[in-house]
Amino acid sequence: LFVAGFVLDPLRENSSLRVLVFAALHMLLLGWAGLLLWCSERAGMRIFQRMAAVLLLGFSAVMALRSLAALVPGVPFTQGDVQTVAFLAAMVFGFLLTMAFAVMMFREKQVELADLAERDPLTGMNNRLSLDEIAGTYMQRADRHGQELSVLLFDLDHFKQINDKFGHQVGDRVLTEVAHRISRVVRGDDVAFRFGGEEFLALLPGAGLDQAEEVAERLRSVLSQAPFEIAGHRLVLTASFGVVQYQARGESWEDCIRRADEALYRAKRGGRDQVSRALPVSVVMPL
Ligand code: GH3
Ligand code: MG
Ligand code: MG
Repeated sequence: LFVAGFVLDPLRENSSLRVLVFAALHMLLLGWAGLLLWCSERAGMRIFQRMAAVLLLGFSAVMALRSLAALVPGVPFTQGDVQTVAFLAAMVFGFLLTMAFAVMMFREKQVELADLAERDPLTGMNNRLSLDEIAGTYMQRADRHGQELSVLLFDLDHFKQINDKFGHQVGDRVLTEVAHRISRVVRGDDVAFRFGGEEFLALLPGAGLDQAEEVAERLRSVLSQAPFEIAGHRLVLTASFGVVQYQARGESWEDCIRRADEALYRAKRGGRDQVSRALPVSVVMPL
């Protein structure tokens, strides 16, 4: 547009038209960007995006006035005054917008880092760091509102053999595919985590032991029914499951996980590729 102002005759010869075209286009683009930013729903970014959006929309409004001033002859300012005010407004808005975008970028990095800290880099699943917080929330709901809460703890069977036979990289790709298959079953309020190397955990709020066992069976079959096709190999994989229902008001998270772990251990001892229920709190024996 800047070049067009020199090259195109109508724009070069008529300063009002030039101002009108530039200001109107500025107004539209700034207004559009402001609206997009205002409507954006990025978690943790909202307040910063709204502030930047207000600046963009404010600048757009100034450009609207500038267009009007160019359109309506006989405004109570000389063209020079309007030009000076518009220039100063551009300076101030430019400065504020730069600051706003710098703050937004900084905030975005913060949000990204917080997200990364809670994610397992290999599978993209929630990692153990985020587990305590989410489990705490669900346990509170169970304690206060009587909502049931069950936990699945599962571990891939003979996974070491996959690494030994096909290499660590294939093992990694199997883990990624496992995470993908888990996400097909664990949905809604249910949350899955990578608990350790080849060990996973799912929190099932609102599910009793029977429902949790059904989910575990679905997971078991989603893992074992179709072989994993990775790097030209067809790998058959199974997993063993421990299922536990959190005993509200009285049981600690550690005790609940201990019972799940004990059930998982029994599933392994029982021949793997199976689901085992945890014993009630009172009869858990030390391993
Ligand atoms: P079991 O049926 O008793 O669970 O046997 P297993 O071989 O699965 O159990 P074990 O605990 O002996 O081996 C777990 C293996 O998981 C060992 C480790 O090399 C592998 N592993 C853990 N984390 C990763 C990972 O991020 N990538 C890969 N490729 N392998 C991993
Ligand atoms: Mg294992
Ligand atoms: Mg293991």
